[in-house]
Amino acid sequence: MVVPSIKTRLPGPKAKRLIARDEAVTSPSYTRPYPLVVSRGEGFVIEDVDGNQFLDFTAGIAVTATGHCHPDVVHAIQAQASRLLHISGTDFYYQPQIELAEKMAEIAPGKKKKRIFFTNSGAESVEAAFKLSRYKTGRTRMIAFVGAFHGRTMGALSLTASKAVQIKHFAPMVPEVTHIPYGYCYRCPYNLTYPSCELECVRYIEDTLFKKFVPPEEVAAIIVEPIQGEGGYVVPPPEYHPMLKRICEKYGILYIADEVQSGMGRTGKMFAIEHWGTAPDIICIAKGIASGMPLGILIADTDIMTWEEGAHASTFGGNPVSCAAALETIRLIEEELMRNASKVGEHLIHQLQRLQKEYDLIGDVRGKGLMAGIELVKNRKTKEPAVKEREQILQESFKQGLLLLGCGESGIRFCPPLIVTNREIDTAIEILSQVFKKVRR
Ligand code: PLP
Repeated sequence: MVVPSIKTRLPGPKAKRLIARDEAVTSPSYTRPYPLVVSRGEGFVIEDVDGNQFLDFTAGIAVTATGHCHPDVVHAIQAQASRLLHISGTDFYYQPQIELAEKMAEIAPGKKKKRIFFTNSGAESVEAAFKLSRYKTGRTRMIAFVGAFHGRTMGALSLTASKAVQIKHFAPMVPEVTHIPYGYCYRCPYNLTYPSCELECVRYIEDTLFKKFVPPEEVAAIIVEPIQGEGGYVVPPPEYHPMLKRICEKYGILYIADEVQSGMGRTGKMFAIEHWGTAPDIICIAKGIASGMPLGILIADTDIMTWEEGAHASTFGGNPVSCAAALETIRLIEEELMRNASKVGEHLIHQLQRLQKEYDLIGDVRGKGLMAGIELVKNRKTKEPAVKEREQILQESFKQGLLLLGCGESGIRFCPPLIVTNREIDTAIEILSQVFKKVRR
């Protein structure tokens, strides 16, 4: 099978008809980067309704970790679906949820014992983290980062600072959230250079924030993405997370790692924060945990998740079918996919760096494992974001059968299923090279 294989003009006739029907009845708030109407998925291949086959480097926004419809995951889902679809873990017990809680507690970073709360999505995991940190500390304030994306429900949205359109018309946000610049070295907010900067972006917290306008004894938690996702696949420097954690410990502030996009093996470790050797107090998980079944998870140290009966719950959270999918997904990640993400991810970064040597449009290449990104600039000196060119590249890649997503203002992310091999990476790079040539003209 040769993939990609594009047989029609895009969108094809069936896709066009379905898009017209969709546009008449669905919310105009959805953001569709190109007209892809999916019929089925297998591994890293997506087939559209007109029989065109695409190489998927989106994994449904970093979700289908094991590839589309991995037979072992499908089997686990089918077996669980024929036994029990729902009963609610809020009110009753069932084995898949207990087993998954035990597994998450076992694989979470840090030496302390853990407790698990189940949700349905990333935003809900963040909401739960927000509430738990207020509950536990009795403090109200939160610190989050410019460029962060934590979800779209009101609490999670209040912690988000990714795109103004996500906030516009929804004010007021939950009060007492302060956003500070992230460790984004390619565009250092202080115009400094690593390592001579001595991480001004972290020192700012104690030197300015705590002294001038955010009393530390009122701060419940700092919430941070170990690697910023929607904000541009931004990897902070090696000292970044350990320094943040030390500040948290000094002032009794909880350290929340939002691993919704970076977690579950994608970066070559189970949790991206492990690259920095930092143990968070609370971890938010969703996306890749259940290969596409809706599931979110909150992990917290046992001495932090102490809220009383009735304080927080969810009807669907920890659905038995999603838990069964998650247990199988984790088995596959542990057995081989995490190692594959690390190995193939290195090849991906190497190939992107090779592309960067050929095309001035690529200002920066960064990432860990199969969470890799490029940032496009009109001019490498001024670093003016190449926003229009990014859109052209996404559209043209689609036409040539490669599915990609943007991130940040002018970034492109590469987050394929963790089963990809060097062969698919090379195919994607070959397509991209053609696309860059076309856009350069
Ligand atoms: N947190 C991070 C880091 C994310 O990347 C996302 C989604 O992209 C979310 C939270 C929200 O997840 P969901 O869309 O499942 O609510």
